This record gives sequence, C-alpha cells and structure tokens, in this order.
Amino acid sequence: MNERDSEAVAAQLVAKGYTLAKSEAVADVVLLNTCSVRDMAERKAINKMSNMIGIAKKERPNQVFGFMGCMAQSRGQELVDKLPDVDLVVGTQKFHRTADYLDEILAGRRDKIVDTAAEEKSEAAIREHLLNGNAQKSVSAFVSIMQGCNQYCTFCIVPYTRGEERSRTIDDIVTECRDLVSRGVKEITLLGQIVTSYGRREKRDEWRVTSGASASFPSPVTRHPSSPFVRLLEAVHEIPGLERIRFTSPHPKGYGDDLVDAYARLPKLCESAHIPVQSGSDRLLKIMHRGYTRERFLGIIEKLRRAKPGIGVSTDIIVGFPGETEEDFEQTLSLAREVEFDQAYIFKYSPRRDTPAADMPDQLPTSVKEERNERLLQLVNEIAARNYEKLVGTQVQILVEGPSKKNPARMMGRTRCNKIVVFDGSDRHRGQVMDVKITRAGSFTLYGEPDILE
Ligand code: SF4
Repeated sequence: MNERDSEAVAAQLVAKGYTLAKSEAVADVVLLNTCSVRDMAERKAINKMSNMIGIAKKERPNQVFGFMGCMAQSRGQELVDKLPDVDLVVGTQKFHRTADYLDEILAGRRDKIVDTAAEEKSEAAIREHLLNGNAQKSVSAFVSIMQGCNQYCTFCIVPYTRGEERSRTIDDIVTECRDLVSRGVKEITLLGQIVTSYGRREKRDEWRVTSGASASFPSPVTRHPSSPFVRLLEAVHEIPGLERIRFTSPHPKGYGDDLVDAYARLPKLCESAHIPVQSGSDRLLKIMHRGYTRERFLGIIEKLRRAKPGIGVSTDIIVGFPGETEEDFEQTLSLAREVEFDQAYIFKYSPRRDTPAADMPDQLPTSVKEERNERLLQLVNEIAARNYEKLVGTQVQILVEGPSKKNPARMMGRTRCNKIVVFDGSDRHRGQVMDVKITRAGSFTLYGEPDILE
C-alpha cells in the first residue's frame, strides 16, 4: 500500500516537472512515506529522518524534508516539534496535495506545512502511475480501490491512521485499469486495507457504471447476489488484454460464497489467496475482534481448495498477543499444520498507541514473543519447503516480470499461485505468459526452464 501511495505521489511530482533523484544524497526534496503498523517501523523512520537532516545541515542546507503516510497521520505536528527541520507532514488523505505544498515551500510562500485533515473523495486521489518511469514497461501494477477500515481489530492502528472505509466507484477503477493495460500492464492487483468490504458503505445508486465497464451496480430496488467487491472483479475481468487479477488484503469474514465462486468463474482471477488469520485460537480471535472463528476460517480454505485445487494460500499471523497462553499458541501451530500455508508472514505483537490491545493486561515479554515467533517460523518454513519441493518436475504458467532481484542476469516471473520462478531468459520475455518446467526449489523461490525459448 505504501509503495503504491509513494508511486502515485512521485508520478504527481513528475507531472509537475520534478525529476526523480537517484538517491536522497542528491535530492532537493526527500519525502519519507511511513508505516505505523509496528513500533519498529516508526522508530526506523524517525532515525532515518534525523540522520538525513544531520547530514543535510552540513552539506545541503536547502534540502526540503517531509513525512507522509500513517505515522505522519497519527503524529502530525508532534513530528515537527520533535524534528524542527522537517518542512512538511502529509497525512493519509492528503497525498495528492504534496506537489502543491512543495511548490509553496520551495517558493518560500510557506515555511512549514502540516496537513492531516480528512478530505472527502481522497480515496480516489491515488491514481497516477510511474510504471518504472516508463523506461521499462511494467508488467504488473497495483490499483488502490478503497481506503480505510471499519473493522477495528484491537491490535491495529490502521482504522485510526487511514480512517473510515471509503471506496472508489467501479467506473473510476476500471478506467484506471484500462489505461494501465493500454500501457502494457498484464497483471493488476487491487489494493485496499480490507478489500472484501469494498463498496459496502456507499449508497447503491452512486455505484452505477457509466462508461467503459459493462458491469453495473443494481438499482436500489433489485438486489444482486454478489457483493460489490465481486462485481468489481467481474468488471475488471472484462478488460481486454488484461491477463491476471489479484487482490490484497481481504478479510476472512468477507470471503462469502460469491467470492469463492468468482475464483471458479473468472479465469483471469489468479488462484492465490492471501487471507490473514492472525491466530488459531478462538479465544484470541474474539479478543482481537476479528469477527470469525477458526472453524469458519478452515471452512473458507476448504471451499477455496474445492473450487480451485492447488490454490496458493498465504496468511498473516500475530504471535505474543496480550494474554496469549501456550495453549492458544498451540492452536495457532495446529492451524498452520492443518492449512499448510504456502507462506505465512509472522509478526511479534507490537503495542500501538490508542489501540485497545495496548492497554490489555498480560502483555507478554519479548523473550516469549521471540520464542513463539521462532517456533512458528520453523513450522511454516518446513511446510512451505515441502510444498515447494512437490512442484519440482511440474509445469507451471508464469507471467515474466523482469530481471530477478537477486541475480539480474536471470529473469523472474510469478506463477498464478504467486510463487516466484527464476529462469534463464532475456528481456524479450518480459510481459510474456509462458510455461516453465520447475527443476529446483529454493527458499520461497522456484527455478525453472522454459519449455521453448524463442
Ligand atoms: S481488518 Fe486489517 S486493517 Fe482493518 S483493523 Fe483489522 S487488521 Fe487492521
């Protein structure tokens, strides 16, 4: 999400005549887009800003510094009080104002700007794309479909930093996707804090499609059995030239039968699901305010695997939530064993201010969190290694994205199940959908040989 927001701000700046600097050491303006999900991320951002300011004071006294994003939103003026050389603080509903604010600061009309106010329709303001500065064609792009979250999980700061759920219209999103496809994009990932709640809070008559997309929201009197999110998937699916659709992050409680059915119905929807479970203990799921049970979660996975055998399933899990007993943790381990996730992102619980969990009793010591993190990680890695190994000798379809990050002499692509495949190829394969035979499995990476190298 932050990468996407940063890209949109950069694209807005480029459109105004700014150019992207190679590094902060040679930039006139440095903007740090920040995350608040864990304490460590906030501390890192503040330390980085403080170091950059220290260097700039000696070498580049006119350099302009700004914070954007979630920490900017939650701390606002406090950041300028702490670091008086910061010139700009832009909240999560104000990304699109950044270019204008910079103009004012650089022209000397204003000294400092802190803007964290809410702004109506700001959810539709993240729309510009750089596509790698257009120098290289991007194959895959993210499209922001909504902002905010109303779930208020007790550990999560997002509803406070991103605000209430607000969704863009299907028409608006489809227009952006069509434009991306016309610029060479083959895969679109629909983005939001809780995408399965897309469009649930907007009035239905505002959701009619007026151009481009053939799908439209039903009138207020006719009820369509599909959720607005599935209607959006259907509309994006109709875009000619688009090969693949993904989305993140959904919420398990939004995985209705209509969404499960969409996997079976819509061939462009990749058989890959990142479904954050957070815990395998019903007791903790309740305290976390997650809105589902272990049984319901397992039921969704079963249905998805029935609809799309071999679907890639990944998740997020928190260890060391306040009051998590060894028994609760065992439940998480057993869930991980039962589901056999292809990948799981494990987080040690980090208290976030103003969230209910931060004030709960029985906060666990770091040593317990680390020990549980280690045990779960080991289990997840063992299971994933087994699952990856099973793919050796099989043929998979990949979309080639570009050079491998670790070894730019080789190319990388992604399977429909969202597994990375590295192979010997060349830049002419970028953007191609091709069949690859898997020859070896590494840690969360597969290695393969294309069937026919043209
Ligand atoms: S659903 Fe996700 S974004 Fe929303 S409060 Fe819960 S964890 Fe945070």
